[in-house]
Amino acid sequence: MSASRTRVALMGATGSIGTQTLDVLRREPDRFELVSLAGGRRLAELAAIVSEFRVRRVAVNDDAARRELAPLVDPGVEVVTGDAGLRELASDADVVVNAVMGFAGLPVTLATLEAGSRLALANKESLVAAAPVVARVRSTPGAEIWPVDSEHCAIHQCLAGSTRTGHPDVAKLWVTASGGPFRGWSAQRLRGVTKAEALAHPTWSMGPKITIDSSTLMNKGLEVLEASALFEIEVDRIDVVVHPTSVVHSMVEYVDGSVLAQLSRPDMRLPIAYCLGAPTRLAHHWGRLDFSQSLHLAFEPPDRDAFPALDLAYAAARRAGAAPAWLSAANEVAVEAFLEDRIAWSDIVAVVAATMDHYEDDPLDSVEAVVENDARARRIAHGNLPS
Ligand code: NAD
Ligand code: MG
Repeated sequence: MSASRTRVALMGATGSIGTQTLDVLRREPDRFELVSLAGGRRLAELAAIVSEFRVRRVAVNDDAARRELAPLVDPGVEVVTGDAGLRELASDADVVVNAVMGFAGLPVTLATLEAGSRLALANKESLVAAAPVVARVRSTPGAEIWPVDSEHCAIHQCLAGSTRTGHPDVAKLWVTASGGPFRGWSAQRLRGVTKAEALAHPTWSMGPKITIDSSTLMNKGLEVLEASALFEIEVDRIDVVVHPTSVVHSMVEYVDGSVLAQLSRPDMRLPIAYCLGAPTRLAHHWGRLDFSQSLHLAFEPPDRDAFPALDLAYAAARRAGAAPAWLSAANEVAVEAFLEDRIAWSDIVAVVAATMDHYEDDPLDSVEAVVENDARARRIAHGNLPS
């Protein structure tokens, strides 16, 4: 065992990003040491990861999960619980991968930055909901956010790691979107969408919530908010373009008209490895393009009438404060209801829009305010679910 290995904490280890992160770690045993893990429900899988990587510390949701996990792992493994457990593990690593789904990832984002460590951020919801608070803790010495989300990872690369406040040379960030499974569908046809159709993403294999978000384009809306917070650029300098094959992962347009893009096959292990290895690029084959085959790159504007989630996100960005937190919270409630067959696909964005109608400006100046706004938006969204 080399003493200089990077100590990695992986939160949301059993999910789509989590398991792809493990795949990266498996190939780089001399470079990385997995020191802690967190997971939600799949405890047998979590236990298998603990034993494969000889992890010493694990966080689970509550005492019931702790009791269930305990007999499955070595007695020397420390099991912590709840938000406090997540915070504790996130405070003790060189790099923390936040691959938790949804607002539940907030303690991980905050604790990592407060500890002055590198945050490899997949969990966009925490940044979207708590942007003003994250902006403050981000200035902790040593704290860094490296974006795992493929579009943001692409922009990060096209900005060449630039940290100049305001990016004066940048005219625009172009966030690419596959368009999801319903690209080109009319509003009328969209009314008959089934869950199986919504869960069948054309280019990416991801967890259920983000797959549904991709079908409504809410994912792209959240990504616009994420880009604005991450790169400290106003949303009016961020635009979305549909690119169905997901080869160009996003672009930066400079004031002289130059457009820089990052291209690769759609494989999340590439952005994960970029965030873990930086400044070193890890030599693997998963994103490599084959230029001996013909490669056609097509772009088209998004259909903003058929997919109103995009404009809802821009509206929330312009209101700032707690509006993005409301948008994200209402969306989580609506997507969960859709996944449980309680509402139709077309109700998802309608529930979010109805919830946003109740939003009153709140500057969102503390973690407590973030948590309160999240809870309030969820209550209102529940009340807006069609029965
Ligand atoms: P997923 O549903 O596959 O996995 C989520 C993980 O979070 C699971 O391990 C689950 O057990 C864990 N989790 C859920 N609630 C938790 C809690 N309260 N405490 C601890 N762990 C908890 O989701 P995913 O697709 O891997 O997405 C994870 C995050 O990454 C999301 O924010 C998503 O938007 C983002 N993301 C995913 C992809 C992708 O390709 N899957 C791409 C870009 C961004
Ligand atoms: Mg993305």
